Amino acid sequence: MNERDSGTTTEPPRGEHSPKIGMTASSVSEPPPARQVQVVHGMSIDVEDHRQILSSRFRGDPGEVSAQFDRDMDEILAILDATGTKATFFVIGTIAEQRPDCLRRWADLGHEIASHGYAHKPIWAMTPTELREELQSCKRRLEDTISEPITGFRAPIFSVRWDSVWALDTISECGFTYDSSIVPVRMRRYGVAGFDPQPAPYLLPSGRRIVEIPLSIGRLWGRTMPVAGGGYFRLLPQVTIRRILRRFTMRQEVFVVYCHPYDMSAQPFQSADLAENWLDRLKGGLISFKSNLGRAKVRRLVRSILETFRFGPLKDIAEKQETHEPKRLLAKACSDVRRPV
Ligand SMILES: [Zn+2]
Repeated sequence: MNERDSGTTTEPPRGEHSPKIGMTASSVSEPPPARQVQVVHGMSIDVEDHRQILSSRFRGDPGEVSAQFDRDMDEILAILDATGTKATFFVIGTIAEQRPDCLRRWADLGHEIASHGYAHKPIWAMTPTELREELQSCKRRLEDTISEPITGFRAPIFSVRWDSVWALDTISECGFTYDSSIVPVRMRRYGVAGFDPQPAPYLLPSGRRIVEIPLSIGRLWGRTMPVAGGGYFRLLPQVTIRRILRRFTMRQEVFVVYCHPYDMSAQPFQSADLAENWLDRLKGGLISFKSNLGRAKVRRLVRSILETFRFGPLKDIAEKQETHEPKRLLAKACSDVRRPV
């Protein structure tokens, strides 16, 4: 059964919740559940050129956008077009500078353009003043390019953690109505353990509001972990991702996917030529090795889930949350954390 085609009913996929043998006649003849609108999951792309990110790291300069980036974006657009999906493109300022026509084309196709920061700096490496400048300069560049307001932000490396959760106030202050930076489980470099994994509005210490749309997590092998894109899409079996998505859909919970252009690449990623010394060559080799593991199947996986389940841009998810009563959890969390100056 195709979950996407099941349209607006809550009828479960075959074999998941069908009446069990041995049920009584009365339980079988109970009225069907009320019809509900099928949940629309979130589809997002972090639009950055992996070679530029490594070039910035090894040479202090991103250089030109690579031809591989252009091919990978064409691949993503073809999959979105073939499956009739509109997505959110979290774009970094460097790409907006060097590919303004592409941004206008993506917006004209009906995709949402949102911000991924100007130079792909993690929040924990910035003061509030530096973050404000980074957010404002990228927002201005994107808005000037597509002549539309930019309302969504995703921090590079999902770098809104408990020790940088103050950033949500700065993000809201800069005019963003939603953020999608939090992974609600603690990992080595990112994540906020115990954070509500579903989208919700929050009241911030300043009195401002923001909708948070966390990246999705799942329970696998007795452990809660991120499952919704990047390396997890490269390494987890397709059947596992589909099973998790089916569970989210059955529970009417939003699943938020993230991908990068290089995740969709048909070519293996190469970075050795960007390094200028043996240590960076070694680091680049390890990054390339990790980035290439399981890459070949990601395009098939993304296409398959977009064909089966309903996905849309994150601004639509945020808009649904804007009228809800905001939670105050973050007010306490923000005041508990020492705010950098
Ligand atoms: Zn990124």
